[in-house]
Amino acid sequence: MNPEILLSRIRVVLCRPSHPGNIGAAARAMKTMGLSDLRLVSPKQFPDPEADVRATGAVDVLQRAKITGDLAQALQGCVLTVALSARARDLGPAPATPRTAVERLVAAAGEGDVALVFGNETSGLSNEELGLCQLAVSIPTNPDFSSLNLGAAVQVLCYECRMAAHAGAAPLLEQHATPFSAPPATHDELEGLYRHLEQVMTATGFFNPAQPGRLLQKVRRLFGRIALERDEVNILRGILSATQSPTRHGRRD
Ligand code: SAH
Repeated sequence: MNPEILLSRIRVVLCRPSHPGNIGAAARAMKTMGLSDLRLVSPKQFPDPEADVRATGAVDVLQRAKITGDLAQALQGCVLTVALSARARDLGPAPATPRTAVERLVAAAGEGDVALVFGNETSGLSNEELGLCQLAVSIPTNPDFSSLNLGAAVQVLCYECRMAAHAGAAPLLEQHATPFSAPPATHDELEGLYRHLEQVMTATGFFNPAQPGRLLQKVRRLFGRIALERDEVNILRGILSATQSPTRHGRRD
């Protein structure tokens, strides 16, 4: 299925968010990854100018956000629901990593709407809210400091959604700038470089033609690996020429 359609079916549900700035940050995190369905369960303060400021270009996501009085309403119609919690709980839903949970979530999005559920900034998700979800996900963190900012947690999960929707190969932003391109060195230019190297290595005593060993093959292997450009061959030959005739830089054989 088209990745953008899959992403459009993923709801991000924020339970009882206290800070409007975090709602804005979540909207921005969603839009950068192609998600757009934001649900707010009893937000303390919304709409709010601070939310708009933090959303920057994602105010449209805020404007379309649906507000509900409880989590059950926000999850209506969802075929898979995933709770985000820094702490594992006894008798909570089956624990999963963000990647494995999101892979299941995106697969389920092929069948219908799905949800990622985040908790309040101070208290997290209540046991009751957690109990309404089918999977619980903890983002792996420093064990001594495991609580991410709400907007940051939304960003991590939305990124995983984008990667999963594109089967692990989400395309990068198209380059509008003309990429720098230099002509590659030709076979004869490379051979000229190898001959020049051999001359200098012989003249300096580094290479002894009577006992060649495998030095020349190794030099070819080294330069063969890096797809030299014409300019680069010219620079290397310029350096070699300068060592041959230090006062007359740039002289070629
Ligand atoms: N003090 C709260 C953390 C609140 S952070 C607690 O201990 O639960 C706000 C929300 O961000 C959390 O409810 C959770 O949904 C999400 N979050 C933050 N850090 C997370 C982590 N390491 N793993 C999963 N979710 C996390």
